[in-house]
This record gives sequence, C-alpha cells and structure tokens, in this order.
Amino acid sequence: MSQTSFEIQQAAVIGAGTMGRGIVMCLASAGVNVQWVDNNPQMLEQALTTVAQTYAHNVRQGRIDQAEADARMARVSAAADYAAIRNVDLVIEAVYENLELKQKIFRELDGLLKPEALLASNTSALDIDAIAAATRRPAQVLGLHFFSPAHIMKLLEIVRGAQTSPVALEAALTLGKRMGKVSVVSGNCHGFIGNRMLHPYVFEARKMLLEGAYPQQVDAALQSFGFAMGPFRMYDVVGIDLEWRARQLAGKGQDAPEVQVDNRLCEMGRFGQKSGNGYYHYEPGSRQAEHDPEVDALVLRVSEELGFQRRDIGPEEILERCLLALVNEGAKILQEGIASSAHDIDLVYLNGYGFPAEKGGPMAWADQQGLANIHQRLLALETRQGDQWKPARLIDELAAQGKGFADR
Ligand code: NAD
Repeated sequence: MSQTSFEIQQAAVIGAGTMGRGIVMCLASAGVNVQWVDNNPQMLEQALTTVAQTYAHNVRQGRIDQAEADARMARVSAAADYAAIRNVDLVIEAVYENLELKQKIFRELDGLLKPEALLASNTSALDIDAIAAATRRPAQVLGLHFFSPAHIMKLLEIVRGAQTSPVALEAALTLGKRMGKVSVVSGNCHGFIGNRMLHPYVFEARKMLLEGAYPQQVDAALQSFGFAMGPFRMYDVVGIDLEWRARQLAGKGQDAPEVQVDNRLCEMGRFGQKSGNGYYHYEPGSRQAEHDPEVDALVLRVSEELGFQRRDIGPEEILERCLLALVNEGAKILQEGIASSAHDIDLVYLNGYGFPAEKGGPMAWADQQGLANIHQRLLALETRQGDQWKPARLIDELAAQGKGFADR
C-alpha cells in the first residue's frame, strides 16, 4: 500500500453472534457506517433487534439521547451478500473460531474489495499470517481482537501479522481511539498477549483442583488479591463449553488431566452461567455464583480417579502459582517481542482480564516484588514442580542486573 494514511469511514462486520453484535455497536457508536452480513438471516434479524434494544436501554439509562440512538441505529444496515459490501474500507470478521472457514471468507472478500481495504479478524487465538496467506493483500490483514462484551470492554488487541503494513496498523490504532478503546499492539502468536498468558494461569488453577483445592477456594484467593473474578467464575461467564467444543473439533487436548473436570461438567450440560449451572449454581435470572457441593464432589471424584493424593492448598500457594504463571509467560512474551513493553502487557491485563488496578498489572506487580525475588520463587517452584517453572531468560537477565521489566 503506497498511501501514508487511511481513514475508515465505511465498515462491514461478518458474523452476527455474541462478538459481532458488540463490534457493530462499537463502530456505529464511533460514527462509522456498518454493513452487517451473516449467513443465517434469522441470526442477523435477532442481532439487529438486540442492537436496537441495547441503544433503547442506553436512552432509558440517560447515557445517550433518543437522537443519538437513532443516529447510531441508522448507521447499521443488513447486507444480503458480500457483493453488497464491496466498497467498504474495513471488514471485521467474527464468525466461528475455525481457520479454514476464516481463510475461505478472507479469500472471497479479497477478490471483491477495493485494493486498499483492510481485512481484520476477531479471532481469539488463530494464526493471523495463515489467515493473511489466503489473500493477495497480506499487508492489509490484521487481527482486531475485541473482548466480550465488545461494546463494554475497553481492551482492543491489534494483532500485527508478519506483513501487516504500518499504514494498516496506524488506521487500526486511529479506529481504536475513535471507539474509545485502550489499544495494545500484539505480535502474532497463539492467543496473542492476553489469552497466551491466560493459558498457564488457568492450567495452574485447574491443576490445583486435582491436587486438593476446590473452585471457590481458588476463586476466593484471587478475588481477595483483587481480581474482578477468579478463573472458575470467569469460565462460567465465558462458557465452559467453548474450549470443550474447540478441543473436540481439533481432536486434541481432551485427555489432559487438567481438563477432566471441565469435560465432566460439560457432559452434564453444566456450561456455566448461561445454563444455570457450571462451576457454580445460578438461580433462574440471576448472575450470582452460588457454591454447589455437587461440584466439590465431582472435583474430588475426578482427582481420585486420576490417582491424585489430595492435600490442603492454602490461598498463598494459589496466589503464588497463578500470579507467577502469568509473570513468567509475560516475560517470554516480552523477550520474544510479541509485546513491545511490560506496560502494554499490564494494559491488557488491567483492561481485559480484571487484574486489580491498584496493583498496576502483572508485570508492574512483579517489579514491585523485585525480579530477583521473583526469580528465586520461580526456581523454588521449578524444584518442587518441574520444568514448566523454569524462569524466562529475560527474568534471569534482569534479576542478575538488579533491573525490573520497566527498565528495559
Ligand atoms: P458466535 O457463535 O456467537 O457467532 C458466530 C456467528 O457467525 C453466527 O451468527 C453465525 O451464523 C455466523 N457465521 C458462521 N459462519 C458464517 C459465514 N460463513 N458467513 C457469515 N456468517 C457466518 O461466535 P462469537 O462468540 O461471536 O465468536 C466469533 C469470533 O470471535 C470467534 O473467532 C471467537 O473466537 C472470537 N472471540 C470470541 C469471544 C467470546 O467471548 N465469545 C471473545 C473474543 C473473540
């Protein structure tokens, strides 16, 4: 692309599910006209109603006036097919998390859209370069990873592919600003910054269930540290079934001991808040997570079946393992250049994952402890629990120099 700047005036969103709805509202509220495509016409109709209802609700709350709600709604229109969106400046795809499906859509759009148009995916973890490779415009392909609910959550991860141009990145950053988002640029790796760090954090939480803890103990420890929600309450909100279905689809990961409690909950139809039961119980119409002794019994049964000798696990150990898992992965993300600063990682965790604001984010928290101290604690965990705790090279180096992540 030879331009020096590119302004987004007309956009299209593909997919009218959970994320598509929030993304459309972000765009319309920022003054961008949006054409909306879904291959399920009923879904699109429902989605348009939901958007209208949300804006009506905002009017009742006094957040916007009727004229603003009407103006926003007037910017959103249903498009019958891809041909109808050929003139837009940006397409944001938010269909199912499936690489082949996304590649097919990108290939088709590439053949239709004007050459300078940007193509973005809201994928949570897939390879942006593999998606870009389906097009002849990899410089204009990037990830725009919104968080759920997209019209409320502040964070936007802008994922830079190997060939994404500076002009495309700049246009995305400008759009992020117009939508009132906190934008963080991430390199392309599985899960980008936020979900990649979440993986070892949740792994520890799940492992502790097998070793002796119960979901509400793990959540209570992290919530008393200041997290908006512990990991199991978070899974209940997101839907435990999403990863379960993804593992089934991929045909891998389903046998790992750590996911056996999740698997059993899903087999019982306990998908989380949306089904009234998950790690917790929810009364009809309520979002209040209530302790469910049946889940404790299930955790006990699964860990015994897997041959674990259960032991008491206190809040200190829960915090130590979950927080240090975040910090060590964050350090790897930094040393690989996936994030350009520790501050960016902190912004992701503060604005997308409910990390306590007063602690400044996981990397700032680690700096407050001192990286020499963090290094020792990781080595102690490595001795007790094995290789996955080997300190990141960056922590070795900074600890030896008496420096913190912020000094890089
Ligand atoms: P969803 O299942 O709620 O919605 C997907 C929509 O895509 C459906 O309306 C479906 O009809 C439509 N669709 C499927 N194939 C299509 C096609 N070929 N053409 C047009 N429309 C098609 O999914 P979601 O939860 O909104 O997730 C969408 C994407 O966002 C996924 O890549 C997901 O990983 C990512 N994401 C989800 C979350 C979340 O919390 N749900 C958060 C961040 C990112």
